[in-house]
Order: sequence, then structure tokens, then C-alpha cells
Amino acid sequence: MSERVIPLVDQRLQSLAATVPSTPIAATGLLGDALGRPLRDLRISVTDRCNFRCSYCMPKEVFDKDYPYLPHSALLSFEEITRVARQFVAHGVQKIRLTGGEPLLRKHIEILIEQLAALRTVEGQPLDITLTTNGSLLERKAVALKAAGLRRVTVSLDGLDDTVFRAMNDVDFPVADVLRGIAAAQAAGLGPIKVNMVVKRGTNDHEILPMARHFKGTGIVLRFIEYMDVGATNGWRMDEVMPSAEVVKRIHAELPLVQLDPAAPGETAERWGYADGTGEIGVISSVTQAFCRDCNRARLSTEGKLYLCLFATQGHDLKPLVRGQASDEQLASAIAQIWQGRDDRYSELRASLPPDASTGGRRVEMSYIGG
Ligand code: SAM
Ligand code: SF4
Ligand code: SF4
Repeated sequence: MSERVIPLVDQRLQSLAATVPSTPIAATGLLGDALGRPLRDLRISVTDRCNFRCSYCMPKEVFDKDYPYLPHSALLSFEEITRVARQFVAHGVQKIRLTGGEPLLRKHIEILIEQLAALRTVEGQPLDITLTTNGSLLERKAVALKAAGLRRVTVSLDGLDDTVFRAMNDVDFPVADVLRGIAAAQAAGLGPIKVNMVVKRGTNDHEILPMARHFKGTGIVLRFIEYMDVGATNGWRMDEVMPSAEVVKRIHAELPLVQLDPAAPGETAERWGYADGTGEIGVISSVTQAFCRDCNRARLSTEGKLYLCLFATQGHDLKPLVRGQASDEQLASAIAQIWQGRDDRYSELRASLPPDASTGGRRVEMSYIGG
């Protein structure tokens, strides 16, 4: 077995202060970054804690009882999150995804959802509000989430075999509870539901076909995600990545597939439909096929730092503006200035770069900025 090096530097301490530009930047909904990419999708991490310890995300050896999770006082309050979100929406955001850590661990998350559901896009439309969860608390919370204004959920599930699943979440959590959570979400009308499966070669790739068979014809869209080199603690190795093309080939051999058109520009998943018309699957090729050209996603960390890329090494700290004297217009201008300077395209550059060479620092953890 190869040796694993786990860096102990706390990346969250490194950030750039967000500043208010001397000339205000009006929120027109038409903001573009340095590569002309609009701002459409905001992912908000509401907690850096989780009740699972998936080895590809929060390995037990690092995220143990001594790990310095953020204190409650460092977290943005629901009112602060909503205020920041409102400025993003004024710049063109149409979709908000709540994530984490495990977002359902944040107390009274329904209250935040209610506040966000009251926002309107530049065109006057309600936002598409969704949430990514490990499903462990979904059975209990689905009805309240729907009532608060959540539209849909994405549930992460890495296999149906109980032994495999318990090993991957590394807290011995049973698969049956997640399946009951998915059923509860479906019954509550939180659809169309997506199920995300991270595929790690040699760990759960034998679960690809059982998962495809299980969700085929249920209206649930199963999406296979390439295991990514996010963060700095998961000991990522290229040989554990199963390219999406191989996933599609394996499924197609038993359950014939046809390629479908993308749902929307900037959509991360490539869509494939079952040839017999019983639904579709998606593949997210974050490693083998870069999709930075259309990347319209911003990420807000639990403590109010804005990240422009999943692989960023530094965030832009909005909290001093949010907690200080800045007006909404000033906050919106500061966000606009940051987005206008964005030229991140890590996945496109990955192949030609040595590890960590993109910006010379260590990447933040996915559990901190959300998926
Ligand atoms: N705890 C929630 C969950 O698991 O759905 C939300 C946060 S989690 C960080 C968001 C998504 O990121 C999950 O679908 C998870 O499987 C995915 N993820 C985490 N680490 C990953 C990695 N190294 N490669 C690919 N996907 C990853
Ligand atoms: Fe927790 Fe989600 Fe990360 Fe798994 S992927 S450790 S459930 S935050
Ligand atoms: Fe977007 Fe960064 Fe991922 Fe490229 S690598 S798709 S810029 S988050």
C-alpha cells in the first residue's frame, strides 16, 4: 500500500479580504467573469460538520474528535446568508444549492429555506432551491423541508450493498435508512430526485449496475461522479478514478443507453436515457472531461468566504462587510468585483499541472465549501 501524507495546515485561515470598489458596480443580472461566464448558481455550505466520514471527503484520521470545526459564532446566521444570497440573485443567480458538511445537521434549516424561497430572480421568478444530503436525516425532515419551500433534493448514495455502503460512510450507517429517506423525499414531492454516486475503482465500481437497475424506472435520476482530487486529505490517486466513459459502457452493455441533450448550459452532468424509455442517468466527468468553460457556480463557505472554484486555495472573505457597515449596494459591488476577476479553470488545466501548482497553495476541503 502506498503511504499517505495528510497535511495539517488549516486552509480556512488563508483568505483575501473582500473590498468595496470605489466605483459602484450596478447589479443588472448580467455580471460576467474574466472569461465571460455568467453567475447563475450559488452553493451555500451551512455547516462544516457531518455525521458520515466518507473516506474521499472527510477521512476519519483527519476529521476526528480533535478536528477544529468552526465555532458557532463563526458561522453566518440565516439572516446573514439570506442577505448575501440576495446580492448574488441580483447579479443573476437563479439556483441555490444548500450543502455542507451535512446540511440537515444545521438546526432549523427550514427557516433558512423559507427565507431563501422568498427571494426572486432578476426576472421576478422564484429561485430553484435544492439541497444535497447524505440522506441520513431525510426521512424525518422531508415534509418540513418541502413545506418551507425546498423544491428538490439530491441524495448521495455510493452503493446498495450494505457492507460496501457502511464501509464507505465509515460510520457503519445502514443503506436501508438512506433508502427510506429517499422514499420520504419522493412522497413529500421533493422531486425530481437525483442520487449521486461517487465511483471509486476497486471500492464500489461493482455497485454501478445494481444501482442502475435499482433506480431505473423510478423517476429518480442516478448520477455517477468521478472521484475528484478535491481537498488535501483524501489521498486521491488517479488509478482509483473510473472514467465516466467506462461507467456508461458497463451500463450500456446490459441496459442499452442513448445520449440525450444537456438540460441547461453549464449543466455538469452528461445525460443518457435508457433506450426502452424508462428514465435516464447522468455522468459527471469532473476529472476526465473538464467543464470549466460553462462553469457558472459560486460557493459560499459556512463562515462567509466566497470561493470561485471547487479547487480554489483561497476564498474572499465577505463576513467583515456583512457584519460591518457595508450597505447592500456595497456588498453587491464587492461581490461583482470579485466575480469580474474570476479566471479559474482548474479542471481544464489539471492535466498539464503538477499537484498544487495552479495557485501554489493547498486546496480547501469539500466539506467546508460544499460540493
Ligand atoms: N453531505 C452531503 C452529501 O454527502 O450529499 C453534502 C456535502 S458533500 C461534500 C456533496 C457531494 O460531494 C456528495 O455527493 C459527495 O459524494 C461529493 N464528494 C465529496 N467528496 C468527493 C470527491 N472527492 N470526489 C467526488 N465527489 C465528492
Ligand atoms: Fe459527509 Fe457528504 Fe462528505 Fe460524506 S460526502 S463525509 S456525507 S459531507
Ligand atoms: Fe468550475 Fe473550477 Fe470545477 Fe472548472 S474546476 S468546473 S472552474 S469549479
